[in-house]
Amino acid sequence: MVTMTEAVGPRLEDLARQDVPVAAWCQACGHHKVLPAGPLLERLDRRTAVAAVARRLSCSACGSRRIETRPHYAGLGVVAGHRWHGE
Ligand SMILES: [Zn+2]
Repeated sequence: MVTMTEAVGPRLEDLARQDVPVAAWCQACGHHKVLPAGPLLERLDRRTAVAAVARRLSCSACGSRRIETRPHYAGLGVVAGHRWHGE
């Protein structure tokens, strides 16, 4: 019953409950960042869809707003061959 659009999917409150951070990356330069859900909840509505968090972000490396966000479930980064870091 899950449709993969930006309007649905896990919300910030879901990640906070599961202690799962948000993975964000820049489509312009490939910069990766892992954001704890806690601080995001202080800035955004807790019902904000994780995919929609990207609209509030810009890249700290190149300034691009072409950001994508998704839940950073443990192990996914390794499976995908990425080295995630939380700088
Ligand atoms: Zn960038």
